[in-house]
Formats: sequence, structure tokens, C-alpha cells
Amino acid sequence: MNVAVIGNGGREHAIVKKLYHSKSVDKVIAIPGNAGMNDTAEVIYGVSEKDFEAIAGVCIEKQVDWVVVGPEAPLADGLADFLEDEYDLKVFGPRQSEARLESSKAFTKDIMKKYNIPTAKYETFTDYDKAKQYIEHEGAPIVIKKDGLAAGKGVVVAMNLEEALDGLSSMMDEGDDSEPVVIEEFLEGEEFSLMVLVNEEYTHSFEVIAQDHKRAFDGDQGPNTGGMGAYAPVTHISEEVRLSAVENIVQPMADALVEEGLSYFGVMYLGAIVTNDGVKVIEFNARFGDPEAQVLLSLLENDFAEVLESVWNKEPLTLSWKDGFVVGVMLASDGYPGEYDKGARVDIVQECKEKTYISGLSQTEDGDYITSGGRVLLVTGEGESVQSAREAAYENIKAVTFDDGSLFYRTDIAHRAL
Ligand code: ATP
Repeated sequence: MNVAVIGNGGREHAIVKKLYHSKSVDKVIAIPGNAGMNDTAEVIYGVSEKDFEAIAGVCIEKQVDWVVVGPEAPLADGLADFLEDEYDLKVFGPRQSEARLESSKAFTKDIMKKYNIPTAKYETFTDYDKAKQYIEHEGAPIVIKKDGLAAGKGVVVAMNLEEALDGLSSMMDEGDDSEPVVIEEFLEGEEFSLMVLVNEEYTHSFEVIAQDHKRAFDGDQGPNTGGMGAYAPVTHISEEVRLSAVENIVQPMADALVEEGLSYFGVMYLGAIVTNDGVKVIEFNARFGDPEAQVLLSLLENDFAEVLESVWNKEPLTLSWKDGFVVGVMLASDGYPGEYDKGARVDIVQECKEKTYISGLSQTEDGDYITSGGRVLLVTGEGESVQSAREAAYENIKAVTFDDGSLFYRTDIAHRAL
């Protein structure tokens, strides 16, 4: 069969690689893909994720049997609905109304409240003065979130009142008809990411959890980013905690969506936090995490196309996982997540390509890589322990050359495990 993968990031690079190794897959088509996918997929450069007609055109021409949608934005815009309804294509990724799980925090918080799914206490506001009063009443620390998609940059975790009010002003227009914001209780604890394959009430939670590193700099300092590194498995968070998340959060959420008349199909990403009061939800996303997908899919041994078919058919599924650990370190353009320059030359030693996932590189006519995005590439390392996987990842970074000052990366990925 032929499979199309929509998206141009490192997560999609990981999905493409996985499908390339599937026995039942003849061809992978990446739309619009990136320069890292040339050797594993037919890359259809230049087709925008927003151009649904053009995406459908490629899928029909290439006779694809499955479409896997990587990023959240096209899902929130209804790409799955369009491809299913207009072209009868099989799409792995939720439809627009189900993708609200990620695209509207207010929608998701309301469902959690209604079905008693543990999460931070919250209120939603569209009126600036009321929001301000609420913050002053609740006090800091407190968390303020934009309702819609913001690529990881729509959240202010305020440790004092001044930060909270500044954060509010940056997210809300004064007056009574602003875009909604959710203001929630600050939770303390260790976070982890759990990926779940969902088809309505059918769920299969990954047995391996991962941890992301959202802040730009070492020691979890600096601004929030899309993710600066990840590792898996996270063995210092117990299996009991993971199972409690499955039992008290994942399955109740899948059931709640069915109860609400929704039909979720795709990956459900749970961002969870282990508090003194049990595991709670920080957020849900409607797709794989990036960079969690890169480390988790490199540990997953199953044929990914077979996994999709099993979830489609709601068949019992056994996932098998490689022994050992994977640590991934993100190399990002200097200045990211703020403004950054593009066009910096990057060279990757051929033998190391297998261990890298490209997100923001394009290729010149001469075949040279140049940067084209904020997050540029994830370099992974494997090992029998987290320590050795981390050493391998940092060793592998030496196979990537770039001008001093053009890229930066964190030197402490997986620090919580060590
Ligand atoms: P993503 O890019 O992961 O989709 P997002 O914009 O949807 O991010 P959240 O994941 O909700 O935002 O929050 C980003 C980060 O802010 C979390 O990983 C967590 O570290 C912190 N955070 C969010 N909510 C809370 C909370 N209630 N208490 C403490 N920290 C929080």
C-alpha cells in the first residue's frame, strides 16, 4: 500500500521512517515533507498544509491507502473531514470537532470537569476585568492559557501577581469580548507524556512514556518552546503511575468523547503531571508530540502500518519495545523561540543520518543543507541506560557541523532521570 504523511517536521520524519520500514508499505509520500525525508519517501515539496485540494490531488494521483496527519493545525482546520468526506480517504488523525481536544482548552477543560477527569481547577474568561479580578482573588502562582493553538507559546506560568497580570495583558484585549483565556491552578510535580492510539472507545496507551523539555535553556530556564529534547522510557516514574493515568484519565476521556457524540480516531497525547494528589492532566493534544514521537517511534518495534490497521479495526494490539533508552537533543537556530536567521549551512556525516530527525532544514541545488526553521534537527542516541543513551546523543552531535553561534542546544536533556 501507499501512505501519505502530512507535515514537514521531525515528528513527520519519524513517522515516514517508521512507515518506510513497514513490510506492507510500497511507497511513502511526504506532503510537503522536508529535506530529511528524500531517501525514505517521495517528497512533494511546495504543497501547503493549508491547501486541502492540492493534498487530496496528490493522494489520489499517488493512490494512497492511508493518510497520516502529523501536525495539529491542519487537523484543527478540518483536513481529516475534507479528505474523508470528499475523497473517501482513510485518515489517521481526528476530525475537526474531535481535534478541539487540542485546539480549544476551554472545550477540553469543560469535558474534564463534566466527567471528573483530574486536572487543575480553572475558569474561562472573555472579559478582561473579570479575569483580572479572578487572578487577584486566587493569587500566584497561577497559570494563564490562550484557548486556541499557539505552538507551545500560549501559556504563562506566573510565579507572582505581577507576572500573572502582565501575562493576562499579553493574551487578552481589555474590554468584555476578548478571545477566551483559561486561568488555572498551578500544579506542582513531575510531567510526562503518554501517547495513546484511539478509535472511539478503543484505546491503546503506549507502554513506554516519554519526557519532553519545553524550556529553551539548561536547567529548565528561558522561554517555552515546541520542545528542546526528549527521552524514553522514563523509568523513575513508576508503571503504577502510568496505569493510573490510563485508568483515571485516558479511558474516561475516550469514553467521555463517545458520550458527547464524538468519534475520535488518531493519536491522543496526554501531557500529565504527577502531583501529591495523584496524576492530573496538564493538556491533551490531538497528535504525536514532537520530539516525543522521534524517541518513542525509534523504540517501537512494530510495523507501523499494521498498527494503524489494528486501531482502525479496533483489534487487540501488542506493541513491542526495544530494550534500552533513547535520548534526543534538539538543535535549534540561534534566537529561537524568538526571531532567528535562516540559511545557515549545516553538514551531517552520512553515518549519523540514521540517528537524526530533521525538522527545519532545506537543501540547496548543490545538495547542501541550510536551516529553514527554528527547530532544526533532533540528534538521538541509544544506550542500555539513560546515561549511556545521553552520552551517545551528545557524541552523535559531533557528527553535525555548523558555524559557531548559528545553532544552540541544551546540554542537560534527561537530567531528571539522572
Ligand atoms: P504544547 O506545545 O505542549 O501543546 P501548550 O501551549 O498547549 O503546549 P500546555 O502544555 O498546556 O501548553 O502548557 C505548557 C507548559 O506549561 C506545560 O508543559 C507545563 O510545564 C506548564 N503548565 C501548564 N499548565 C500548568 C499548570 N496548571 N500548573 C503548572 N504548570 C503548568
